[in-house]
Amino acid sequence: MALIINGKEISAAIKEELKTEVAQMKDEGIEVTLAVIQVGADPASSVYVRNKKNACAYIGINSLAYELPEETGEEELLSLVSELNKRKDVNGILVQLPLPGHINEDKIIRAIDPKKDVDGFHPQSVGALSIGQPGFVSCTPAGIIQLLWRSGIEIEGKECVVVGRSNIVGKPMAMLLLKENGTVTVCHSKTKDLKEVCKKADILICAIGKPKFFTKEYVKEGAAVIDVGIHRNENNKLCGDVDYDDVYPVAGAITPVPGGVGPMTIAMLMYNCVQSAKMFQE
Ligand code: NDP
Repeated sequence: MALIINGKEISAAIKEELKTEVAQMKDEGIEVTLAVIQVGADPASSVYVRNKKNACAYIGINSLAYELPEETGEEELLSLVSELNKRKDVNGILVQLPLPGHINEDKIIRAIDPKKDVDGFHPQSVGALSIGQPGFVSCTPAGIIQLLWRSGIEIEGKECVVVGRSNIVGKPMAMLLLKENGTVTVCHSKTKDLKEVCKKADILICAIGKPKFFTKEYVKEGAAVIDVGIHRNENNKLCGDVDYDDVYPVAGAITPVPGGVGPMTIAMLMYNCVQSAKMFQE
């Protein structure tokens, strides 16, 4: 029987820990404040932004919401980011992606002060991770490391296969597993014999954005399978990149969708916000 890795429970535990920490910080006169900027009213982005605000409220983090119209210009957004960079009472800045097509996302991400880059997308944060220096880590892969740790799944010395090489999931995931002394292989759409490569994995991270792509033919008996994908199936139910019912009988541990990786992303964003406030004090 595979261990079902419960991201809901693990993320709730992290939020409880953060809540206690934020209360202690408040007693010492330290406030944590996250500024969230949304441009336009994309429904999925609005849901994410609302969830982030709710998580802040629960933990005791102040949140400043900037809901800007779709037609907001790049310069206007850059000047808001610059103002928030300067504000001493703001620890973290998050610009909800995707941005409307007329705004250069890269330029906006680069404009955020790396000390406030709680999403971990700034090139300086990415570079710091690559050379093993302190900095903010992209929330989804950071959450996956927590899932593995808190489920007692050892990474050191293990064959880790990451399928997907995006800047926000695949690449930072590979770096984090490497930092934990895993032996890491990164696969992508041009990888040959993907099934064979995946079958070598003790820890298989599936992050390609293709519903139910990974069947038991990709999984070694007893492997830990982490499903990053989020999709709606034909019945409008959530599913992942992994064919859960097919893989569950062979896996040693597996994350469900929903309730696996998903809830960890916001928990780790909250974690990064608390870290940013601590860094400010130092
Ligand atoms: P991207 O589309 O940015 O990247 C997908 C990656 O998968 C690319 O590197 C691509 O390769 C690779 N890929 C695509 N098809 C195949 C294939 N058939 N075989 C091997 N590799 C393939 O996606 P993201 O990393 O942003 O997201 C991946 C999934 O995770 C999505 O479903 C997304 O919704 C979900 N997600 C979930 C989050 C959460 O909080 N749970 C957070 C972020 C993402 P190549 O580079 O060669 O094109």
